[in-house]
Amino acid sequence: MEEILIYGTVFLLCAVIVIIYLRKLKQASEVVEAKVEQAKQDGLYEPVSLHPVIDLNTCIGSAACVAACPEQDILGLIRGKASLVNASHCVGHGACFHSCPVEAISLVIGTEKRGVDLPHVNPDFESNVPGIYIAGELGGMGLIKNSVEQGQGAVESMIRSGIPKDPSTLDLVIVGAGPAGISATLTATKHKLNVLTLEQDSLGGTVFTFPRSKIVMTAPMDLPLHGKVKLFDTSKSELLDLWNEVLSKNKIQIREHAKVEEIRMTKKGFEVEIKSGEIFLTKRVLLAIGRRGSPRKLGVPGEDSEKVAYRLLEPELIREKNIMVIGGGDSAIEAALSLMEENKVTLSYRKDAFSRIKPKNREKILAAIEEQKLDCAFLTNPVKIAHGEVVLMNESDQREYAVPNDQVFIFAGGELPTQFLQKTGVEITKRFGYTVKKHN
Ligand SMILES: Cc1cc2nc3c(=O)[nH]c(=O)nc-3n(C[C@H](O)[C@H](O)[C@H](O)COP(=O)(O)OP(=O)(O)OC[C@H]3O[C@@H](n4cnc5c(N)ncnc54)[C@H](O)[C@@H]3O)c2cc1C
Repeated sequence: MEEILIYGTVFLLCAVIVIIYLRKLKQASEVVEAKVEQAKQDGLYEPVSLHPVIDLNTCIGSAACVAACPEQDILGLIRGKASLVNASHCVGHGACFHSCPVEAISLVIGTEKRGVDLPHVNPDFESNVPGIYIAGELGGMGLIKNSVEQGQGAVESMIRSGIPKDPSTLDLVIVGAGPAGISATLTATKHKLNVLTLEQDSLGGTVFTFPRSKIVMTAPMDLPLHGKVKLFDTSKSELLDLWNEVLSKNKIQIREHAKVEEIRMTKKGFEVEIKSGEIFLTKRVLLAIGRRGSPRKLGVPGEDSEKVAYRLLEPELIREKNIMVIGGGDSAIEAALSLMEENKVTLSYRKDAFSRIKPKNREKILAAIEEQKLDCAFLTNPVKIAHGEVVLMNESDQREYAVPNDQVFIFAGGELPTQFLQKTGVEITKRFGYTVKKHN
């Protein structure tokens, strides 16, 4: 009798624990399902580029992928299986892919509905234009380590195929100084090529503009002229310091703020023209321009003034200024929110309401407007950026008015590299759901 009582109690206890566990699981699932619904409503559910695809038959619901992702709310668990949530925020660094204990994740570019433009590149990194090579994320392979490997691989491949000896032109012009461009520059220097690297912005590429300082590297990488880099959980500044150190040790100068506008074929190779009008003659070109493109300009008078920027790097250093933030997407809203406590911020947006932004940003910006922490000028467009002011046009009554101003941040999206590639003659194909990495 006593035994039955003990077994019964244990059984009851186990049943209660299982019920509590299942209930918690159900509640957690419901939270994720609600987030998925919200993401669908906000237009954030559809991935933009490289993203994980989960094989539900293999997934065991360990949640390792959810824990490994340094971005927020991209993956969640629904009824014990991993699921995409705010997939359009995925940056494709593949930490989920590497963390899955049962290899249930593949990395895929584009979806069945949304294609991604990928240039034609052969296994030697050469495009359909002989002499123009492509490396890094532009070719479809994201991640710092992959870009570094590809930058090196592309230069080694062009050396193998032979570069004519002619001192009257450069051997190689590298366009872009992100991880791929830096690695290619180091490799070209190692092989004593006469190389010039042109960067439209600042050294470091996308890494330089990361909104967070944490960087995830899932495996060690080999940096030419340096050796193995065993940084796993590192920071943006640590990585940038390392690149700068290796470049300066080898006396390599990368030409920053030199946007390549056009590449023209010549008898001896190529003419590479930058925004200032300067032209460089070269035998080979490596495009390492990533996929993020160039910030879109508004084309208003005064936009080329020094006080205008297209990204915000250290908001904590900006104080007591009149700031104009232009745009209505996540980047503009995040910039405005991070500047408003210490500055007087005006947010100018051409539409009458925000759309397709992260739910948290929507909540925060609406609260900030309500509390009058910043001025939000809906339905306005800047018509002139002048010393001490920005002139806005109110689109509802066509009235122009001046707003006192010290600094302007423009977040008007980007010109994708597609146009640049097409102008250069590189063929592009739209890929729908193209698998980049799969466990075998
Ligand atoms: C928010 C975020 C977080 C990420 N986190 C990680 C992470 O933790 N770990 C990881 O491994 N990866 C991460 N990634 C992905 C990683 O940053 C990219 O895969 C990598 O930077 C691609 O390198 P790349 O050299 O091919 O291109 P990019 O880094 O994009 O560099 C391209 C460069 O080319 C320049 N350029 C473009 N057009 C021109 C032109 N016409 N003339 C001159 N220059 C031009 C650009 O200004 C840019 O500097 C993250 C990405 C984002 C957006």
